[in-house]
Amino acid sequence: MPLVVVGSVAFDSVETPRATRERVLGGSAVYFSLAARFFTRVRLVGVVGEDWPPEYTALLQAQGVDTAGLQVVPGAKTFFWRGRYFSNMNERETLDVQLNVMAHFDPILPEDLRRCKFLFLANGSTKMQLNVLSQCVGPMLTVADTMDHWIRNEPQELRELMRRVDGLVLNDAEAKLLAEDENVLRAGRALLEMGPRFIVIKKGEHGAMFFSKHEMYVLPAYPTEQVEDPTGAGDSFARGMMGYLAEQADYTPETLKLAMAYGIVCAGFTVEDFSVDRLLKITRDDVQRRMEEYRRMLTF
Ligand code: AMP
Repeated sequence: MPLVVVGSVAFDSVETPRATRERVLGGSAVYFSLAARFFTRVRLVGVVGEDWPPEYTALLQAQGVDTAGLQVVPGAKTFFWRGRYFSNMNERETLDVQLNVMAHFDPILPEDLRRCKFLFLANGSTKMQLNVLSQCVGPMLTVADTMDHWIRNEPQELRELMRRVDGLVLNDAEAKLLAEDENVLRAGRALLEMGPRFIVIKKGEHGAMFFSKHEMYVLPAYPTEQVEDPTGAGDSFARGMMGYLAEQADYTPETLKLAMAYGIVCAGFTVEDFSVDRLLKITRDDVQRRMEEYRRMLTF
């Protein structure tokens, strides 16, 4: 079943202890669209400026992403993000965020996108996420991501969003910030009280935690020696998770746990190269092979 994603479409400049890349293809909706795109078709909703190279749109289309919802605004500049990773490659700081064209983006969804069954509100302005959610009629599953910028700048909108989505996915530092609690377990439970039916807290190289009214568990990350650029790992996680859920078209506890595992496997690929480079090379067989290895690792 097709999946609609709305989020940032960006130029990223990324600094790691070993290398720096300037203005590479990035953005939450882009990573989401390209990670394990073979699960189910993705329809992207986003906005770029006139500095956006048409080749990037062509690249997304060549990977099977439906870009009809990608608006190009003449005279405007594309969203830009610059981040620096610390030596542990697990933590990072944002050095610059230029919202540019995303600051005033008010998407109007075409009729067929409004009736989508699976909606992922990737990182982007909370107002934009709410706007898209309001236009959708009877989705089966809605999941949102957020980050420090929006937690600090659009807190009221974020509280409203949390009352209206099924799931919220965010990283551990963001969960602690939003819950105002330094203990990740208490933070997860506090976020659950704010509305969503489930919360996923991503913990980078330490995997991810799942919280619902009925259960809480932790899954480890897929171990890798080759960490080149962790950017987009969170969005790729979300893609693996949502892709599997959309494919299965249910969200029983068992399916949700397997979906978490697919998310972890997809995130594991992303970090192995800069930008979306690794994602462009993997096949469904690669994902399946890792999934089986991951399953073997966890069986005792
Ligand atoms: P992740 O590493 O999964 O958290 O996602 C990284 C991506 O998020 C980068 O490609 C950035 O372009 C994008 N990004 C960074 N800050 C923001 C923001 N405030 N809103 C939306 N997207 C962002």
